[in-house]
Amino acid sequence: MRNAAWLELEKKFTDFVQIRRILHMYPELSFQEVRTPAIIAQFLQNCGLEVKTGVGGRGVTALLRGGNPGKTVALRADFDALPIEDQKDVPYKSKIPGVMHACGHDIHTAALLGTAYALSKVKEQIPGNVLFIHQFAEEVIPGGAKAMIEDGCLDGVDVVYGAHVLSSLPVGMIGYRPGALMAAGDKFEIVINGKGGHGSMPHLSIDPVLVGSQIVINFQLISASRLNAVDPVVVTVCSFHGGDSYNVIPDQAVLSGTVRTFSKEAREAAKNHIEKIVKSSCEMAGAQYEIKYEYGYPSLWNDPKETKRVKRMAELVAGKENTVELPLQMAMEDFSYYMLERPGAFFLVGGMNPDIQAVYPHHHPKFDVDERSILQIGKMFISLVFDYLTDSMSYSGQDGTHRVTPLLLPKKYKRKEERL
Ligand code: MN
Repeated sequence: MRNAAWLELEKKFTDFVQIRRILHMYPELSFQEVRTPAIIAQFLQNCGLEVKTGVGGRGVTALLRGGNPGKTVALRADFDALPIEDQKDVPYKSKIPGVMHACGHDIHTAALLGTAYALSKVKEQIPGNVLFIHQFAEEVIPGGAKAMIEDGCLDGVDVVYGAHVLSSLPVGMIGYRPGALMAAGDKFEIVINGKGGHGSMPHLSIDPVLVGSQIVINFQLISASRLNAVDPVVVTVCSFHGGDSYNVIPDQAVLSGTVRTFSKEAREAAKNHIEKIVKSSCEMAGAQYEIKYEYGYPSLWNDPKETKRVKRMAELVAGKENTVELPLQMAMEDFSYYMLERPGAFFLVGGMNPDIQAVYPHHHPKFDVDERSILQIGKMFISLVFDYLTDSMSYSGQDGTHRVTPLLLPKKYKRKEERL
């Protein structure tokens, strides 16, 4: 059954490359997707599936009922693009100025459509159901996942799998990781109100640039000495605006940045330290301040049992030598919301190929990946569906804590309330 579905996908591989290229030429920004979900819905309807549009806003889901009753496996792909000017020299370069599929979500979409096509060809032999989740707006907080879940897209679903192509992993390879895979990502903005004045007489001013500088330096203490080193934390100030003349001390400086963590403890502690450092630095100088702290996506934790399944299937699809355990990723992904609700796993599929200049990092204006990653993702999805549905010992709980891999914190599987 699995091999028959693989074959259906392989036979139509060039069609799915074509779909990917169409999506690539007409990318749409997060929360503005119109054409993309329409193309997806049309394709899934043609496959004879039960299609829902406008799920959580702009999402599309499609249910495939197998020939025999059983559990329901959900597969998720995101479909939004980024505000980046495409600088590649390829025939399928973006035709929309300033918008580009620079993270591979077009690959994910083509792969999931390919999976839907292939599975619908063998549906009589599927012992259960498959729900295809095409998600909008992964790139921009609050993301589309949460809204789709709140709209009930996981109702009746037993397990969820998702994939991301990776331009830093050679094509042909597949990466997995039990437990923590991707970080929680929060955003902060700090406004420092001092007192402007002449650059020659700082004693008559309250210099917000100086206060801001102290804050930036002191933030480094958070990861260096305030928090447990085996529970990683990144605090980065990415913008610092203040003043516009060489001899005028401004009234105000504004800092913004991001916080990345893997546990509730680290996340709360980092936030508290940020507040403490800003408060004491401003008080010392007599400046006023305002902090806007916005929680982004929670950290992404893979279910250990489902990750084992991913590993087994990856060895089947890519070969043992091409299946690798990944290190922690400090990037974030709103697939984490599905993992708070159901068991499942997120895995990474190689797309790097120097022969076609597919070597640039994600979100780079020349980003591209080898399109054979479509086949790899599709084969993984197909294999996971059959393996899960035919596994009579299938795990159906939501709490993986009894199967903890102890030792290092990041590998330990955390319960939902420990992750938020
Ligand atoms: Mn992405």
